[in-house]
Amino acid sequence: MLEIKNLAFSADDGREIVTDISFNVERGQIVAITGPNGGGKSTVAKLIAGIYDSNRGQIFIDGEDITDKDITSRAQMGVGYAFQRPVTFKGFTVRDMLIMAAGRELSSDELKEILGTVGLCMYDYIDREINANLSGGEQKRIEIATVLARKTKYNVFDEPEAGIDIWSFQKLISVFENLRRKKEVGQIIISHQRGILDIADKIVVISGGKVVREGKPEEILPTLFDSDDYKNCPVGKRCSDE
Ligand code: ADP
Ligand code: MG
Repeated sequence: MLEIKNLAFSADDGREIVTDISFNVERGQIVAITGPNGGGKSTVAKLIAGIYDSNRGQIFIDGEDITDKDITSRAQMGVGYAFQRPVTFKGFTVRDMLIMAAGRELSSDELKEILGTVGLCMYDYIDREINANLSGGEQKRIEIATVLARKTKYNVFDEPEAGIDIWSFQKLISVFENLRRKKEVGQIIISHQRGILDIADKIVVISGGKVVREGKPEEILPTLFDSDDYKNCPVGKRCSDE
């Protein structure tokens, strides 16, 4: 289990953007995190990956406290974080990217399996350069493939829907479901997409740096957009003007 306990984080200007976040994810589970923009979701993802250091709170992997571990040790201990944007430089191919992510040579069979899982045919993609000629959906799938190549125990995906058409996104959802079926990986997926929220084992709603609701989709979804806790600012006003 990955356990997040009372995490807090202040930005450089002293503003506390994450004030109190607790939730767990087990291997074989999908936990969807949702909530309004600016609520602190991406900051939580970065705190889990070790990109930011928390001010308070703890993170445990399978009972071991990793709060003081850096990004590299966390990655070695099995935390996977999907790059927001894949690294791109000239001549760097999909194969190079996957081998770099895995940290070792990968056989053709392994490459076929990893790319197949994200719905890409190995022979079409393996020698493609990672650059702007790949569509948003292709880039996203390659990004997810790199996380799979690393065989991590807990993965964090920050808005995997970004830049993907709805048809490709449906296929991505089945990637997450197939991964869940293997029961080896716990997945935290930050998303606003109904398709993700519907398949989640648990939805955690984050707003104002706090968990405002947590529960099964059937409990959370019917009233998700009703609550005052996460209403958006009216256009042209600040919330404090209200
Ligand atoms: P979400 O992903 O839920 O949209 P974020 O976690 O990206 O929210 O951001 C939460 C708030 O913290 C936003 O107001 C954002 O502008 C601010 N923020 C995020 N990172 C930093 C940072 N490194 N320094 C200062 N403010 C930040
Ligand atoms: Mg975000």
